Amino acid sequence: MTEPHILGKPLAEWTTKFPLLNQLMNFEPVFWVNPEQKRFNDLPPLSISWKDILNAADRWERFSPFLAITFPETQGTDGIIESPLRKIPDMASAIEGHYSKNFSGDLYLKCDNDLPITGSIKARGGIYEVLKYAETLAMKKGLLTEDDDYKKFAEPGFREFFSQYSIGVGSTGNLALSIGTISAKLGFSVSVHMSADAKQWKKDLLRSKGVNVFEYKGDFSEAISEGRQLTIEDPKGYFVDDESSKDLFLGYSVAALRLKNQLDEDGVVVDKDHPLFVYLPCGVGGSPGGITFGLKHIFNDNVHCFFVEPTHSPSVLIGLLTGEHDKVAVQDFGIDNKTEADGLAVGRPSNFATNISQHLISGIYTIEDDELFKLLTLLTNSENIQVEPSATSGLLGPVKLNQSDYLKEQNLVDNMDQSTHIVWSTGGSLVPQSDMNQFYQKGQNLLDQ
Ligand SMILES: *Cc1c(COP(=O)(O)O)cnc(C)c1O
Repeated sequence: MTEPHILGKPLAEWTTKFPLLNQLMNFEPVFWVNPEQKRFNDLPPLSISWKDILNAADRWERFSPFLAITFPETQGTDGIIESPLRKIPDMASAIEGHYSKNFSGDLYLKCDNDLPITGSIKARGGIYEVLKYAETLAMKKGLLTEDDDYKKFAEPGFREFFSQYSIGVGSTGNLALSIGTISAKLGFSVSVHMSADAKQWKKDLLRSKGVNVFEYKGDFSEAISEGRQLTIEDPKGYFVDDESSKDLFLGYSVAALRLKNQLDEDGVVVDKDHPLFVYLPCGVGGSPGGITFGLKHIFNDNVHCFFVEPTHSPSVLIGLLTGEHDKVAVQDFGIDNKTEADGLAVGRPSNFATNISQHLISGIYTIEDDELFKLLTLLTNSENIQVEPSATSGLLGPVKLNQSDYLKEQNLVDNMDQSTHIVWSTGGSLVPQSDMNQFYQKGQNLLDQ
């Protein structure tokens, strides 16, 4: 058998140049500090800016009257789709107890598992992109100006207008839920292309909303390429492309503005002496990248963002480590991309997101599926909060960080008592209770071993 080649080079050449690949190929959990992280003021010019984040925030604002009447669960926040920030001291103790490791600083959970409408972080990016597309179409047609009351979008005439247009998306599940739900509400004809690992309940739920669901035997990349092909064959088709979308990214970025307000309300200070650490579950890198992009503009070098990937799907890590971004996939290195972490089973990173994240993020760590289930059970037991397995991956962050050299390298050791850790919990509220009970039981069994 000939040795496998990746981008024309033998595997041995890659592993010699990047020894960490050996550990990744053995599915060992790793903590990688990004050598390319730059100080905020030293960043090279990026293709998007602070102004784009503010524009995205304004667009969410314009649509809020429509969202409030269309999705009653957002009435309490006047049509703003947002989740609570919760301090979780009992979980901090539970983690320290179970792993016999200490860490300093306050621990918070950003509860996107409770995000209205679709119960996952994908509501931020996915809903935003479809709203923006709908707005663009309506303005082009002369049906709308920015000063109008966007409640108009709920009128039958608008629905009829949008029904000539189709929207497609490829997804492991959660993105499909967001795109499908909002597109169907607006009146679009919408098709979602699901990978083999997508859960049956997600397909059922989407079909009940009038969404066309296509299923594929392969993984996420296959669902995306097939979906892209079928969608663009329609001259009035629009494909939401998780592998390269700027609008998804900007939709996510607005979370940073909202988080800043929540921290202010809680009296949490972030400055040179009070560092903020944020741990973000990562699939293609869009949601963690967009949020990091926003946070860096607000807190500059005082926020340190870490992505988390499953040991079986370290796609963004391999993309950044090798510098090849979306030109390499985990499968090229014999890594199987099989994980129970929905939304994180991604073999190839987004090129758009990775380009921006490469100089912004502090690092990436990988986590085994078993740990996700243990953390899920610990979180339920300690704080009575239920999230899906992928959404727990950030909870190991503070412990992992403490064991790494990062704090020393960054001169942060003396500030840790006054630091804040935010774990981004990315999904959960729509998971059927029977599935959730199984996750919990699995975690309990692992904890009892
Ligand atoms: C999609 C998803 C993520 C990761 O977002 P990416 O943009 O793919 O990096 C994390 N958690 C959950 C639950 C998700 O659905």
